Amino acid sequence: VCDHRAANSGGEVKSRRFSTYGGALDEVDVELPAPQGAQVVVEVDACGVCHSDVHLWEGYFDLGDRKLDLSRGRDLPFTLGHEIAGRVVAAGPDAGAAPGESVVVYPWVGCGDCAMCAAGDEQLCPRPRAIGINVDGGYAERVLVPHSRYLHPHGDVPATLAATYACSGLTAFAALRKLEERTGDGVLVVGAGGVGLAGIAIARALDIPEIIAADIDPAKLAAAREAGAHHTIDTAEPGAVKQVMRLTGGGVAAAVDFVGSASSASFAVGALGRRGKVIVVGLLGGTLPLAVPLLPLKSISLEGSYVGNPDEMAELIRLAQTGRLEATPIETRPLAEAEQAVRDLRDGRVVGRVVLTPGRG
Ligand SMILES: [Zn+2]
Ligand SMILES: [Zn+2]
Repeated sequence: VCDHRAANSGGEVKSRRFSTYGGALDEVDVELPAPQGAQVVVEVDACGVCHSDVHLWEGYFDLGDRKLDLSRGRDLPFTLGHEIAGRVVAAGPDAGAAPGESVVVYPWVGCGDCAMCAAGDEQLCPRPRAIGINVDGGYAERVLVPHSRYLHPHGDVPATLAATYACSGLTAFAALRKLEERTGDGVLVVGAGGVGLAGIAIARALDIPEIIAADIDPAKLAAAREAGAHHTIDTAEPGAVKQVMRLTGGGVAAAVDFVGSASSASFAVGALGRRGKVIVVGLLGGTLPLAVPLLPLKSISLEGSYVGNPDEMAELIRLAQTGRLEATPIETRPLAEAEQAVRDLRDGRVVGRVVLTPGRG
């Protein structure tokens, strides 16, 4: 253990945290403990503001006919922020991280000894310790990471972009991986918000030939075209499913629902051709009216995917480092605007991704 590490460790850090669900994100100085064992302290250069931050802050998911209570997963006051990139500033004696290294943090930390964790799917752990979800996250100047194995050096990729790979990028990547055998002709991307745009960029980097983007918002469709979608479909217009059928000659084999609402999932299922598959990753809320006989008659499948596992994160960062992954639109804001950013995202006033930059003050 070097003395300078100990001197650099912990200390008082500014954070933006809420004390009641749906309440203000106040500026609070938090005492960060010195890293022990393989723990690492990362100075936050960039922290993405994610749609799930809105749900975590409100304290529930909308399940359509009822609310799923999210308020038991953490202690208040709480610091949000799970899309974190920054520099290692302190490390415990057993950590394999070099101070000064620029890293993106895999935040989906599990318990380490359940069946899901053992299978390498920590993000599905029933006793999660996820950063910014269950333990304090990156709406702060520094964050404590429980083990250096969760750090991914991102090389030349800018921190503001690298941060978004920890959730929006990873979510899109893992969803497309689950469709690997079906994307030979193309993919339907439903929802062109932050995660959907990441999906379009990743689909292009994976050489998926035809990308159809669908959204209810013309501004988001314009962003989708900008990101490289070959066709766009306004799902607010009547006949949107028919448009997909015409474009594809009978429906798509692969679709990702980045919205996760009743109407987006219905649209995605309706746009499937025979043996088509929809991966739902969005969490907006609602219940799905489904014509059950279509499952066998068209042999379609509907599957969920939640963020991604550590291996997928490593693969995604490698893909990003090849330079083939186009940057998605990013708007940076100071840490002081964290609450406004969450509110803007809730109200649908954000195109692309808002990334907080605590390191810039
Ligand atoms: Zn997220
Ligand atoms: Zn576990």
